[in-house]
Amino acid sequence: MIRKNQHGSRFSPHRPSKPGLPQDSKPANKQNASGSDRLEQLIQKATNLTSSLPTSRYTASRQNLRIIPMGGIEEVGENMTVLEYGDDLIVIDMGLAFPDDTMPGVDYIIPDTKWLEQNKRRIRGVIITHGHLDHIGAVPYILPKLGDPPVYTMALTAGFIKKRLEEFGLVGRSRINVLTKDDTLALGSFKIRFFRLNHSIPDSVGLSITTPVGQVVYATDWKFDHTPADGKPTEFDKIAKFGAEGVLLLMSDSTNSVKPGYCISERELGITIDRTFSEIKGRIIFANFATSISRIQQVFNAAAKYNRKIIVTGRSMVNNIEIALSLGYLKIQPKIVIKSEQAKKYPDNQIVVLTTGSQGEDAAGLARIARGDHKTIKIKKGDTAIVSASPIPGNERAVAAVLSNLTRLGAHVIYNKTLDIHTSGHAHQEELKLMIALTKPKFFMPIHGEHHMIVTHAELGKTMGIPEQNIFSLDNGQILEINSAREAKSVEDPKISSGYVFIDGLGVGDVGEVVIRDRQVMAQDGMFVIIVTLDRRAGKLINQPDIISRGFIYMKGNDDLIREVKHEVRKLVESKGKEKLEPNWAFLRNIIRDEIGEYLYQKTERRPMVLPVIIEV
Ligand SMILES: [Zn+2]
Repeated sequence: MIRKNQHGSRFSPHRPSKPGLPQDSKPANKQNASGSDRLEQLIQKATNLTSSLPTSRYTASRQNLRIIPMGGIEEVGENMTVLEYGDDLIVIDMGLAFPDDTMPGVDYIIPDTKWLEQNKRRIRGVIITHGHLDHIGAVPYILPKLGDPPVYTMALTAGFIKKRLEEFGLVGRSRINVLTKDDTLALGSFKIRFFRLNHSIPDSVGLSITTPVGQVVYATDWKFDHTPADGKPTEFDKIAKFGAEGVLLLMSDSTNSVKPGYCISERELGITIDRTFSEIKGRIIFANFATSISRIQQVFNAAAKYNRKIIVTGRSMVNNIEIALSLGYLKIQPKIVIKSEQAKKYPDNQIVVLTTGSQGEDAAGLARIARGDHKTIKIKKGDTAIVSASPIPGNERAVAAVLSNLTRLGAHVIYNKTLDIHTSGHAHQEELKLMIALTKPKFFMPIHGEHHMIVTHAELGKTMGIPEQNIFSLDNGQILEINSAREAKSVEDPKISSGYVFIDGLGVGDVGEVVIRDRQVMAQDGMFVIIVTLDRRAGKLINQPDIISRGFIYMKGNDDLIREVKHEVRKLVESKGKEKLEPNWAFLRNIIRDEIGEYLYQKTERRPMVLPVIIEV
């Protein structure tokens, strides 16, 4: 496996670097300050005395607490945060993200952990908040690079992590410690307590981290659900207690910060699923996330009630159901699960197919069923496909294509736009406000989301009375530092890189920005190869140049253009070929690439990748 650590970047047009403190960004206006301006400044100074200090007076110290986001603050996914105090480091979550359209061929994205690798002897432990891939997905890639530090998490999450490590042949290297939500963990200068949160997967916990500087509350992906499917609501009492003790910093999930009101309870969704099952006469194909154990439970409940058997398909669905069952997180009725070969024995109205692929993933169960190439399940008229998930941004088209394929085959489809058949696992605005009200933090750092979601969450914080200068909407690469006087500021540390590492097949980090750009160019306008055979000493063409075009134009229909290009190449070689005789002909190759690239653009308004190949004889 290649571990070159070449970093990609997300090709956002620009990643603005934020000034250290909000007040730094205000233009200096001393000369023109009117009386009222000056008064305002004085009032502000008086009210903010204990908050942030100007950069010049701020000195970094090993007695400062540093919150170092490694990912998850500029994107959905790839969640990973490091806390540093003195010589101690703790890591929270190790997630992966899925690539977008600008990253052709990339399978996953994981955070760049070079700095952490250099400081691995200081890592006291890794805490994982819940079992979603954007929180555990990078564990097998990153853990070995950090010297296999101990992992601490709840039982179901531990089950999912162990399965993942098993798939990568890494079992037994790191100790996976199973804790309960009432345990207290001491890791170096940090004391960690847990509180149960609701989310679309059981065993999601938030963290209270006591540090020498103050208490940090880390609210990972969460929502408040008073009637969750597993009957285990959020531990409000603990959160309120932490609030009463005094919270220095709240870090909280921003995924749904733009959505008003409250998130629908999983119980209410259960009622919808029940009603839907009661009305459907034929087979039901139910697709959802393999990690949504609560949703899977509701499907089992409804199936049992309406006397349906369940066929489970999709590797991760089978694996996760097995793990959840063995750990007691899923309760299913005896003999309800049947093999797909047994389906023939039952009428259609007694069958549910539970499958993965709610995001339109190509290789997952639902897409294969929709394409008609699933081994045993063939769609027929009378089937109803239920997609119980809303597409993650970027997946909408794939989901739509799967839905269309299903309807073409005669299935009726139900999805989040036709019925409330999905509820999110992330808090809406009123819940986010309640979290702030309960914890009453001095400082607030919205996490988990794209920048606009984080900024919206920051605005909510302001409406809850947190002073603007105490709210930190950081970009990747920025660090929040809080000193012993409880003053906070965002800083940048050039030693800590915040890039992305791309995973493509077996390669980790060997596909970098250059490779991705090449792929983008080729994907857009194809490739144009010019093969020139030269007499080495004379620098003269021996044969007519050869042209190979892929994805640019169809050569047969474009004889004129090809002839003209050959002519242009010949002219270039004749005028420049002798100019600079070098062993590798870099000069001539560059000229051919640039000039012919420009020529092709003039003729076609397309920019294929032009690849000159020079053969000398
Ligand atoms: Zn999650």
